[in-house]
Amino acid sequence: ERNPEEDSAKGNVKVICRFRPLNSKEKEYSERSCIEFGSDLKSVRMLTQSDAGCLPVFNFDRVFSPDSSQAEVYEMAARPVVESVLEGFNGTILAYGQTSSGKTFTMSGPSLDDPVYRGIIPRMVKTVFQSIQEADEHLEFAVKVGYCEIYLEKIKDLFNPSRGDLKIMEDRTRGIFIENLTEEYVSQEEEVYQLMKMGGKNREVAATNMNEGSSRSHAIFILTISQSNTTDMSEKTGKLYLVDLAGSEKISKTGAEGKRLDEAKKINLSLTTLGLVIYSLTDGKSTHVPYRDSKLTRILQESLGGNSKTTLILTCSPSSYNEQETISTLRFGIRAK
Ligand code: ADP
Ligand code: MG
Repeated sequence: ERNPEEDSAKGNVKVICRFRPLNSKEKEYSERSCIEFGSDLKSVRMLTQSDAGCLPVFNFDRVFSPDSSQAEVYEMAARPVVESVLEGFNGTILAYGQTSSGKTFTMSGPSLDDPVYRGIIPRMVKTVFQSIQEADEHLEFAVKVGYCEIYLEKIKDLFNPSRGDLKIMEDRTRGIFIENLTEEYVSQEEEVYQLMKMGGKNREVAATNMNEGSSRSHAIFILTISQSNTTDMSEKTGKLYLVDLAGSEKISKTGAEGKRLDEAKKINLSLTTLGLVIYSLTDGKSTHVPYRDSKLTRILQESLGGNSKTTLILTCSPSSYNEQETISTLRFGIRAK
């Protein structure tokens, strides 16, 4: 076993897992919970016999049971990443799991209006403005946000959907960026919530035209914090990517043809590539990191690995009905660890 301290890339990647509660429909159909949580808060056991009689145990940096609060998840999974972005580093927080497992609940929350249920993005916005308020007088901050969606390897601006498929560009000063992406300067929490709501609506409008497209697309919320020090004129910028990934479920192979098949292949490609990228960053041996194999990993390239802090949140259903998808989600996370 390697010492995690020896390997900064590994030290900067955290993999956590969160189980939502059984929902009323699952209870109605007498589905039961098929998992058992370890008392160390870092392991989960599948109460299944499907793996040739053995009961697999999965270990992560932290496992959150169904009764965990939004606040707890934020403190563990997101606050350290946000704090590092405020110091000028990049960061990425990703939610990975099957549709209905709690990705959007965890990243955004069921509603922005109730502070108790706010997810990671609004909480992080609060931390950012609070820290700016408390920062030294000689530091000047500028905060901007962008919101886009990747569907079938096409990038759509959720603040300005009419712009069509945006391109990924790279230059010496800006590094890798999405060309023409609308980025709004913001100075208070409420402004960001309004923008999140507007972007969210643009996501939904498209969804009805493309068969629940929102579960098939990746949504990326980008927050950029620039600061200049008026004493020594130094400047630094940190970028934070908050990603609500497409549902990880296997798309039914039977009957998938034409657009559906194309869709299935592209979603599999970006999620598989993401897994390979995170794996090659954490295993410490790979010389080639396949960032360029998908738009998602290309956009995240400068925010995964190196000095960047990354948290991968695996969201899971506890229901026996979803057992196979849950195992596949947990395996994705184990490979990334
Ligand atoms: P996804 O984005 O992965 O498709 P959602 O976040 O929309 O899934 O969650 C599906 C449903 O489960 C929603 O009604 C959501 O409010 C509920 N839910 C998800 N996670 C939790 C949780 N941790 N606690 C309570 N309800 C949750
Ligand atoms: Mg969702």
